[in-house]
Amino acid sequence: MKKNIKIIMIILLFTFILSACSINFSLPDINIKESSETSDLLIYFIDVGQADCTLIELPNGEEVLIDTGNTDDADLVIDTINSLNIDKIEYLILTHPHEDHMGSASDIIKEIEIEKIYIPDIESDAKFYEDAKKVIKSQNIPIIKATAGLTIIDIPDLTFKVLAPNSMYYSEMNEYSIVSRLEYKNTSFLFTGDAESVSELEMVNKGYYLKSDLLHVGHHGGRTSSSKKFLDSVNPKYSIISVGKDNIYGHPHEETLKRLKAVGTEIYKINELGTIIATSDGNKISIISDQLSINDSSATNQKVQFIGNKNTRKFHIPNCSSVKTIKEANRVSFTKRENAVNQGYEPCGSCKP
Ligand SMILES: [Zn+2]
Ligand SMILES: [Zn+2]
Repeated sequence: MKKNIKIIMIILLFTFILSACSINFSLPDINIKESSETSDLLIYFIDVGQADCTLIELPNGEEVLIDTGNTDDADLVIDTINSLNIDKIEYLILTHPHEDHMGSASDIIKEIEIEKIYIPDIESDAKFYEDAKKVIKSQNIPIIKATAGLTIIDIPDLTFKVLAPNSMYYSEMNEYSIVSRLEYKNTSFLFTGDAESVSELEMVNKGYYLKSDLLHVGHHGGRTSSSKKFLDSVNPKYSIISVGKDNIYGHPHEETLKRLKAVGTEIYKINELGTIIATSDGNKISIISDQLSINDSSATNQKVQFIGNKNTRKFHIPNCSSVKTIKEANRVSFTKRENAVNQGYEPCGSCKP
């Protein structure tokens, strides 16, 4: 199926799912043709709330799924994979045995053909983990214990390599997270699971080439990940944070956002934008979501026309004096007035047309 048709389908699917939840979303304001006609690589950061699930359609026709979301996300993830006419996932990477990363693994493995599974060398006695192990065993799917240095794919123009874990033992389960780096022609992507500063520093100290155009920010933007040295080495242009609305952890933490801003990266949060799609033609990355127009290296953020406050449900023009009083965590940006209105926001007194 053509990639641009696929993008239309995925957006329709998410719009359908959101409208089924009785939230009134409009179709995204996206120039789909321009953004995807030459895009060979598609990465879907799926909105599974306070959890992780990333689906990657590689330019060689193979599919990668990094994490599966929580236990109750199985239907959403399976529907998404089916709606894209994906009949097989060649590489399932389960970054670490926490429920928000592999809670749906057993259900997904039952429904979708999986060729190989990559997990870190650490066990868990949690039910979701035991369930996943049983299904994997019954289907005879090869398991590869992933550690730093493993090459998953290495073909012309496309490499996919594991950069962590670098140690056998950590005191935190999150530090066992598989960290992987994908490079397609002149574009690169780093997926960090819930790796925290111990693992990050190991990668820096081992001298791995970490520089990447896009960073899937570690541990949902928690303060114990995204350490300064690591971010300096990655120096991402785009940062995606998988985080749920009003999550009990207060993710993403202010300190993390500050450190990200200090390296000049553009930040995209799933709690504000819903599912985020990154595309690459090998030279240019575009970020697409329900609430963003295409962004490219030059035009990013210039398209934010209105800023909303999630608490008061009012929206403002960017230079309205009220904007300064909105906490970062409560901000949401809109590219069009009608997008704000469609989501139930009202203009503030001084921002009425
Ligand atoms: Zn975790
Ligand atoms: Zn997590």
